[in-house]
Amino acid sequence: MEYDVIIIGGGLLGCFAARELSRYRLRTAVLEAREDVCTGISRANSAIIYAGQDTRPGTLKSRYCVHANKNFDRLCAELGVRFARPGGLMACFGEEGYGRLLRKQKKGGQMGIEGLRMLSREEALEMEPLLNPEVYRALWIPSTGTVMPWELGIAAAENGAANGAEYHFCQEVLAISRDGRDFVLQCEKETFRCHALLNCAGLYADAVNRMAGADRYVIRPAAGDYLVLDKGIRTKVNHILFWEKEGKEKSKGMEAVPTVEGNLLLGPTERQDEVCDYRTDGRDLEQLTGDAKQLLPQLDLAVIRSFSAVRPRAFETGEEGEERADCFRVWAPEEILGFFSMTGIVTPGLTCARELGRDAAGQIAAYLGAEETKTFSGSRRAPFRFRRLSPEERAQLPPSDKTDLICRCEQVTREEILQAIHANPGAVTLDGIKRRTCAGMGRCQGQRCMTEILKILAEERGVPAERVMKDGPGSWILSGAVKKGV
Ligand SMILES: Cc1cc2nc3c(=O)[nH]c(=O)nc-3n(C[C@H](O)[C@H](O)[C@H](O)COP(=O)(O)OP(=O)(O)OC[C@H]3O[C@@H](n4cnc5c(N)ncnc54)[C@H](O)[C@@H]3O)c2cc1C
Repeated sequence: MEYDVIIIGGGLLGCFAARELSRYRLRTAVLEAREDVCTGISRANSAIIYAGQDTRPGTLKSRYCVHANKNFDRLCAELGVRFARPGGLMACFGEEGYGRLLRKQKKGGQMGIEGLRMLSREEALEMEPLLNPEVYRALWIPSTGTVMPWELGIAAAENGAANGAEYHFCQEVLAISRDGRDFVLQCEKETFRCHALLNCAGLYADAVNRMAGADRYVIRPAAGDYLVLDKGIRTKVNHILFWEKEGKEKSKGMEAVPTVEGNLLLGPTERQDEVCDYRTDGRDLEQLTGDAKQLLPQLDLAVIRSFSAVRPRAFETGEEGEERADCFRVWAPEEILGFFSMTGIVTPGLTCARELGRDAAGQIAAYLGAEETKTFSGSRRAPFRFRRLSPEERAQLPPSDKTDLICRCEQVTREEILQAIHANPGAVTLDGIKRRTCAGMGRCQGQRCMTEILKILAEERGVPAERVMKDGPGSWILSGAVKKGV
């Protein structure tokens, strides 16, 4: 199959790049190794839309972050995605931390972050009564927001697809060669060709770079764990909390994020695993629980889930050996014409996904001499969500798929599951449905609704139930019938 542009990787960055490329008269495709979009870094992160206080003034990262934050309400409204701006409180417990906060406040002001204010202990406790009363000061960052990362990525993918971008799943790129100026991409069963190639392979971006002939960076993964608390807890956290530990304490500190769905997310820890391993670590979770008790002593720690995330840290060889690379940009190595790469994009990659996608699309369109189309529409209608209806609105609905509750914890109906399956790109696994609808994300973690969803998925996809997977390859739920005909 032949395209003008191929993007390798359907995470947030790949999906936004595809959406931005669909503004141009270009045939664009995304090749994704897995069965769905947003199954990698994009599904496991802190979900924060940063104001930019942790970036270095004058850098591209800082400009993109401040700009993206200011425009996030508009982006989410366009894509039909929920976004909240509870604001952020960066807490400290002593003089050293206070000094750090003062520097961030000054830097943030220079970068154009609005509304930054240093709070006294009393003010901080008034805003966030659950904070440890020993809090010394807190920096108020009102523009800090939160979004469901995969919801945003899926919305970008759907919008890109509606504008002509094509998605090919279960297509891991194994080798790249050149035929004149074209790239030839070898997957297990199919071959693809394109005039320009964009690498958005996340944790594997260094391997894809090497296939294309660019070996500047190496990625050393670093994992970290999170805890998710139940929605129903008595003790509510009102704002996004940041806490960087002071002195020689071992842990790096933590973030507490009240998500748009009403859960509280705590984490991440940090360990240098050097393998892309999504298993959580008992010691890390213990450390995280201890930190949470220190920061929020009165918090009801009703954990419903833990999960792990992996950071794609990039390194390059400098004068003094291997050093951390600052590569938050769209890299176009001069020696490989037509090749563009987003390598080692860490935080705030979620915040800046649209900006990076737009940057990549602009560079690629200029390289190919492509013009903008007149037909692009950036709007996507938000899917039907029963749980967001008022009791009066619910009462008015006649009995139908729209009222047939499948996941009771999260109030997800059959209609929402059908929509998730028949979207483009649509869900093919239980986790694909979970990411699109929240079914199975609640207190019982899918114990009650999983069988019914599995049945719907098998029927709608026309496959035997034994072939339905929970998540990635090999994660079958059923191994076969116990009794014939049952
Ligand atoms: C712990 C953590 C916390 C974070 N918190 C925040 C935050 O709060 N706010 C923020 O702004 N940013 C945050 N980020 C950053 C943000 O999550 C990422 O920058 C963002 O998700 C971008 O992901 P991606 O598209 O690069 O990678 P991924 O989502 O991993 O996508 C890459 C895709 O490429 C595919 N792929 C790989 N190799 C191949 C191949 N050979 N062929 C085909 N497909 C391939 C993979 O299957 C995968 O789906 C955080 C990151 C981490 C790790």
